[in-house]
Amino acid sequence: MPTDEVVDPNPASEDTIFDEQIRPQQFDEFPGQEAIKAKLRIAIQAAKQRGEALDHLLFCGPPGLGKTTLARIVANEMGVDVKATSGPVIERQADLSAILTSLEDFDVFFVDEIHRLNHAVEETLYSAMEDFDVDIMLGKGPTARSLKIGLKPFTLIGATTRAGLLTPPLRARFGDTCRMDFYSPEELEAIVVRSARIFDVPIEPDGALEIAARARGTARIANRLFRRTRDYAQVKGTGTVTRDMARAALEMLRIDELGLDDMDRQIIQTVIQKFGGGPVGLSSMAVAVGEEPQTLEEVHEPYLIQIGFMKRTHQGRVATPLAYKHFGFEVPPGGQTTLL
Ligand code: ADP
Repeated sequence: MPTDEVVDPNPASEDTIFDEQIRPQQFDEFPGQEAIKAKLRIAIQAAKQRGEALDHLLFCGPPGLGKTTLARIVANEMGVDVKATSGPVIERQADLSAILTSLEDFDVFFVDEIHRLNHAVEETLYSAMEDFDVDIMLGKGPTARSLKIGLKPFTLIGATTRAGLLTPPLRARFGDTCRMDFYSPEELEAIVVRSARIFDVPIEPDGALEIAARARGTARIANRLFRRTRDYAQVKGTGTVTRDMARAALEMLRIDELGLDDMDRQIIQTVIQKFGGGPVGLSSMAVAVGEEPQTLEEVHEPYLIQIGFMKRTHQGRVATPLAYKHFGFEVPPGGQTTLL
């Protein structure tokens, strides 16, 4: 069984339980990300044929696209265990060494949010990744000495929502980088239909597509919307997830036909109304909407940029004419940077 060392702040939440039940275990159960799956399949087969560990891999992309799931699938397909942790959780070199020395041949060591490793820990990781060894400090003070310990060959899979924040030496030690794409509505439909099948919930194709279309290209959101729609259909309907049920449930959740929620709307409207369409800096925007800058940058902005509602420029964030039109504002003459 894979070991999971991530400390979940809410281990028994409905989300976590649901997540474990539907998490795909093999490539065949994981719709989408075709190019990434194709190259991973080849790499895995080649590594198995040679009897070697798979090269270290970096998975990048916004939250909820399946980085953690894919890391577990890679381990399953390699037939090895996975030890999982997260950048900010490993505070000391000794914590990292303890995990590294417990890895068996070809195991997957998954580090979520790898861009948040502290410097000393990151340096320890360099030689572990490159030479499969680690320096352990014995004793304290003037008599302390370091001992080099050999590690079993392992595969580090790092996941990050912020590939740009990785230091060049760390980035250079990965054999390959997989950039996860947002899912198409058809791929999300397949994900929703699969979840419905696992939970034995009757669902009509139109119902699944309605959820998929509003899931902002993100697998985790598609599953979350499916869960809420399932509740709604059970209480207000016959239990079958139809298009009407999905629409009514999503309306109740205040998610519009593009998948935008209250916070997305507030962000765009703030940029337009309070900052004349931008450019506005991330921190000013965060204060104005009352949200953490990191959440804006990692959760909300990627999708707003993807659908062409916002642009990141050197001067700051700018609302596009498309966003003006969607929210019923008049596009200012000469672009979006003049105050209406
Ligand atoms: P990330 O690590 O990128 O934040 P996760 O791997 O935790 O994302 O995935 C979030 C949720 O979405 C999980 O419940 C996972 O099972 C589901 N999921 C992600 N990608 C897919 C996919 N391609 N097919 C089916 N379910 C998926």
